[in-house]
Amino acid sequence: MKNKTITILHLYPNDMNIYGDYGNVLTVKRRLEWYGFKANIIDYNQGDKFPDDIDIVIGGGGQDSGQNKIQKDLLMIGPKLKQLADNGVPMLVICGLYQLFGKFFKTADDQIIEGIGLMDIETLAKPERLIGNIITHSEEFGDIIGYENHSGQTFLGHQVPALGRVRLGAGNNTTGISEGARFKNVIGSYLHGSLLPKNPKIADYLIEKAVTNKYGKFIKKDIDDKYAELARKHAAKRPR
Ligand code: GLN
Repeated sequence: MKNKTITILHLYPNDMNIYGDYGNVLTVKRRLEWYGFKANIIDYNQGDKFPDDIDIVIGGGGQDSGQNKIQKDLLMIGPKLKQLADNGVPMLVICGLYQLFGKFFKTADDQIIEGIGLMDIETLAKPERLIGNIITHSEEFGDIIGYENHSGQTFLGHQVPALGRVRLGAGNNTTGISEGARFKNVIGSYLHGSLLPKNPKIADYLIEKAVTNKYGKFIKKDIDDKYAELARKHAAKRPR
């Protein structure tokens, strides 16, 4: 098994990587190793050659300035990312990149940062910043626990399912209870923290999709998640 490799593409680690988002990459890497795979992490920053043979894509959040910096390059690789998503490649994008996987992010200065439109979502900056601990719930993943900090409020197209329903916190916007969005095997979310160490079910979802795509089937082994469970319990008790 050791020679079986899963390649993770880490999008824009130099500019889109805040509130511990790198932990998502590390969690997938470590869990892949626990399942007996080799994890190959490729950092992709603007101007880099877009690699072939990617099994999982992960990207984090960033300030508006970071989003501006990477936007041109992102639009350039957008068709490749869309092709991968259409092929069923699992992806996780958080906050700033979640917004730019949508149609656009309109900033507080009325500047439109165009996204790649991989997801049918739109984001508008609002005066109120949505900050704090957040808990949402999804049938597939149970309670999803994290931390949010964004001024952009995201609105989902009619056909777009949310990732979870908010139990504590704001989520996509202040007018509804949705958080995040899904398209094929792509997950977008506002949850930092980072998300995956405290929500290993989502990490395993990405791994299962990637391994099945590449090797036909995924045999899940039991992993001792006692530390993740402890972290979840503690985090769930924190005030907003
Ligand atoms: N700049 C975006 C916003 O404030 C994204 C922030 C983030 O990635 N945390 O909405």
